[in-house]
Amino acid sequence: MRFADIIGNAEVAKALASMADSGRVAHAMLMYENEGCGALALALAYVQYLNCSNPHDGDSCGECPSCRQMSKLIHPDVHYVFPVNKGPKTSDDKPTSESYIQYWRELAIANPYFVEADLQKAIGIESKNGLIAVAEAKSIISKLSLTAVADGYKAVIFYLPEKMNQETANRLLKMVEEPPEKTLFIFITHAPEKVLQTIFSRCQSIRVMPLTKDEAAQVKALNPFDDREEYNLFMDLFSDLMNAIVARDLMAALECGEVVAALDSREKQKAFCAFAGECIRKIFMIQQNMPQIAGVAEEEQEFYSAMAGKCGKGFCSKSITNIEKVVAMIDRNVSSKILFCDLVNRMFLSV
Ligand SMILES: [Zn+2]
Repeated sequence: MRFADIIGNAEVAKALASMADSGRVAHAMLMYENEGCGALALALAYVQYLNCSNPHDGDSCGECPSCRQMSKLIHPDVHYVFPVNKGPKTSDDKPTSESYIQYWRELAIANPYFVEADLQKAIGIESKNGLIAVAEAKSIISKLSLTAVADGYKAVIFYLPEKMNQETANRLLKMVEEPPEKTLFIFITHAPEKVLQTIFSRCQSIRVMPLTKDEAAQVKALNPFDDREEYNLFMDLFSDLMNAIVARDLMAALECGEVVAALDSREKQKAFCAFAGECIRKIFMIQQNMPQIAGVAEEEQEFYSAMAGKCGKGFCSKSITNIEKVVAMIDRNVSSKILFCDLVNRMFLSV
């Protein structure tokens, strides 16, 4: 992946390139994106640029041995960590990312803008939660303790550090704090508020911005099965719901809940939950006076600012927790009508 191939986020790409040019390479970086906006593509292009033997015009050459290895995700000094679980595609009892690396490569090469659900499908754990367990930390530490195979940087691209538990983080912490020479960690998160503070505080953070409509259409072309037209439907539903809640119109809010419950599959209902969670996170960021990292599209700014003003301080975190509970219950065959009615009620009461 070269910077030139990246869809959107030209400013971030430029910043990464100049960081590499100046030699001020942060040894731990946290990229925050709404899923599917290209943080992985940027991370891959950045590491490829750092390790390219013939970089020019602010980009990697795409042709040297290092670039060729990067394009196949087989560079010996670049490691990938992502949430996994036991599943039919591995016989490992305590699987790590390594157990699924071939599926990761296939997915990320075909479409580096994949979302978490695509990854779960690719590694065959759709019905489970992906986790980053302590075995992963041990594996990374031992890989990084080896001398680099090539001359460049060793890198760990760490997808979704929010899925790592305390024990894993504790193991990794020293490595993140004082990595071996020319070693870097790039964390990609969709939920910065859930990344353990000990890790977060050691990272330089970078906001990967949401894609414009045109850019999203280009990304969609990479994955024809991915239905991004949902966005408009979901945004309408979410704004109707929030408007009803802040207007204290319980009946209208419950009607929105019924529309969500009537979406034609559980996967769609879960997708709406993920969408609503991201929207609420944006409200939260604005309430925290961090609009620059909320990543709100210009045409939606008015809506989000109004919501940030009208929702109480505890609303966002409570609602995110409640939405997550609903997602877990959807998988357990609980009636979606009851679930969404209950969720709307809770949101109504906590606003
Ligand atoms: Zn190159």
